[in-house]
Amino acid sequence: MTVPALDTLRRGACPSLSAPMRTGDGLLVRLRPAAPALAAEDLLTLADLAREHGNGLIEITARGNLQLRGLTEASVPRLAEGLAAAGIVPQTGVAIEIPPLSGIDPSETVDATPVADALRKAIAAASLILAPKLAIVVDGGGVLSLGDMVADIRLDAVAAGWRLSVGGDRQAARPVAVLAEDRVIAGTMTVIAALAALGPAARGRDLDAAALAAEFGVVSEPPPFAALSRHPLGIHRIGGERVLGIAPAYGQMQADKLAALVKGLVACGASEFRLAPHRMLLVRGFSGEGLAEAEACASLEGFWCTDTAPGRSISICAGAAGCASARFDTHAAADAVVRGAGELLDGSVDVHISGCPKGCAHPARAAVTLCGTAAGVGLVLDGRAGDAPAAALPVEDLPSAIRRLGTLLRAQRKEGETAKSFIDRTAPAALVSAYQGPQ
Ligand code: SF4
Repeated sequence: MTVPALDTLRRGACPSLSAPMRTGDGLLVRLRPAAPALAAEDLLTLADLAREHGNGLIEITARGNLQLRGLTEASVPRLAEGLAAAGIVPQTGVAIEIPPLSGIDPSETVDATPVADALRKAIAAASLILAPKLAIVVDGGGVLSLGDMVADIRLDAVAAGWRLSVGGDRQAARPVAVLAEDRVIAGTMTVIAALAALGPAARGRDLDAAALAAEFGVVSEPPPFAALSRHPLGIHRIGGERVLGIAPAYGQMQADKLAALVKGLVACGASEFRLAPHRMLLVRGFSGEGLAEAEACASLEGFWCTDTAPGRSISICAGAAGCASARFDTHAAADAVVRGAGELLDGSVDVHISGCPKGCAHPARAAVTLCGTAAGVGLVLDGRAGDAPAAALPVEDLPSAIRRLGTLLRAQRKEGETAKSFIDRTAPAALVSAYQGPQ
């Protein structure tokens, strides 16, 4: 396998096996096995390969992809060979997301798998040049539907077929059409061709949804399923079985920990693993007794397995523990937020802790971002890691700054109020002042 010269790699490209991305701890490869269900042996192989060819740090991303870190130009081809030898085929082409339990969840409106597969084939056959980070969601509904996943193009299952919309999550995406089953691929390809016509960097937000809707005719169907998507962490009843959602703390784990988890879960009855959004692993195969043992096993290995885990709404990058670009220990900072400002972590807002302004863990805006900069750890409100911080502090002052933010929240939040509502009604200057402390 040929790895492109590193100076051709850029932040905007997807760091696949054929185009790994340079980060502070070497090369990063992001991959999604094409098979939705993984066996224990697959995960054990991935752990071995991460240890052998990288620095052993494995991440599950917010979209449910795997990231292997600390690779080198020499080791990436060996990783590719190891994956091929194990029969683990990474998905290629445009990222098309479907709910992680598609095809096995009796409560889904329709299995999204065939539509996603047909769309993937149609896009490949069209040979269009599309933005490298283009994301398409095909959401057939069900317990773990993808309503909260932002996409350039969405297909949501509705009574009359598929609702086609662009540029957003299920509620915010702008509607284009409702397509019957036999028109869904051709109709979606019309929108993808319109995107390609706008240029190789065009995203769903750049499309003129009203003009596209006029081509298709009037759209009257409202967004399906008004309810928020369920978080995959914890136990889910899927038909007659119970599926356990497990998360590595803050989305990161060492290969040895993953191997220990998988072996422990197999001993409890685990038979199948699925990657899922929100940095999750879904595990099937447990009986009632085995489920309780599996939860205990996951907790023992340091994984989260209840939907009350407070750190689940924090996104962190590798930080000083795994990346030379990091200016502070992002894990320690996340633990400090859990301890000192846990009220921020009710799931209503995103909190992002980034070792440097590159913002690998959470490219989108977050309500609160702590970011390592030359001037110290910066506080960015409602922005990205690369935005100018409202204030910056020396790293050693960060724990007390976090405690002051927690104190402000506890003192001024109304009973039952969410962190989001509190932040929305609070002047940014008050949050900045709490972060900075007495001047
Ligand atoms: S955001 Fe984090 S992982 Fe990415 S380069 Fe910066 S310090 Fe490294």
